[in-house]
Amino acid sequence: MVRLQGKIAIITGGAGGIGQAAARQFAAEGARVVLVDREEAALQSIVGSIGEDKASYVVADVTQPEQAQGYVKAAVERWGGVDILLANAGIEGAVSPITDYAIDTFDQVLAVNVRGVWLGLKYVIPAMRERGSGSIVITSSTAGIGGTAGMSAYVTSKHAVIGMMRTAALECAPLGIRVNTVNPAPIETRMMRSLEEMRVAAEDSSEATIERTKLAFEARIPLQRYGDPEEVAKLMLFLASDDSSFCTGGVYMVDGGRSAGNT
Ligand code: NAP
Repeated sequence: MVRLQGKIAIITGGAGGIGQAAARQFAAEGARVVLVDREEAALQSIVGSIGEDKASYVVADVTQPEQAQGYVKAAVERWGGVDILLANAGIEGAVSPITDYAIDTFDQVLAVNVRGVWLGLKYVIPAMRERGSGSIVITSSTAGIGGTAGMSAYVTSKHAVIGMMRTAALECAPLGIRVNTVNPAPIETRMMRSLEEMRVAAEDSSEATIERTKLAFEARIPLQRYGDPEEVAKLMLFLASDDSSFCTGGVYMVDGGRSAGNT
């Protein structure tokens, strides 16, 4: 039996590594998906490969209220309602100590990773309330439960959405809407390539290479590897579906054991 039969899901960051994997799994499980991202060509190509009978897209910047309102409206107009929001768009910002961290970069990371998620909740909850049910899944991170030197904005943002999720879970429980976070360790996507490059640049040493940096990240994960986007999407699918009907207000790790120790 397919697990999202008849459900309508909005996925922000839908053209990125994790969002795209979730879109494919959700659609394969019977959902109609609305992908939200900034680049039309990438969205068009993913929607084309999933099939226009199952997927549509909206070009939007999640930080802008009218655009967040617009993607919820587009989902309702195209598919008839919203059952699932995967608030997943995110940026990594810089790798730099707080004293050197650019203020504009800090503001931008908080705008996308916190305000963007909050706006998604603000406009999707009324649409879900009309249907009397819904599931909201927010992509946090292992950076949402512990610090990482050099990543103050990102770590702040991923902690913040856990507080947001807990508050939303309390507000939404009487409405039949569940809210949870998914917290991945490093996953094989563009974002980790970018972080590896920034780490190498920040080291300022000829010893530092992308390969060594990746090995160092992997060494801190008990399963000794990065995760694949599909492994994260499977947890998102569980939380989006009625299989998780008693789960709300929870922080769900998908981290190869990263959070089990104190390494
Ligand atoms: P990704 O491939 O870079 O995907 C992120 C997507 O979000 C990109 O398509 C990006 O578009 C989009 N986006 C950024 N700012 C946006 C905005 N203002 N409005 C609309 N879309 C925007 O990275 P990913 O790894 O799939 O990341 C997905 C989520 O997982 C993020 O929240 C990230 O923090 C989280 N996460 C990732 C990892 C990891 O190791 N990869 C680990 C833990 C958590 P552009 O390409 O145009 O910027």
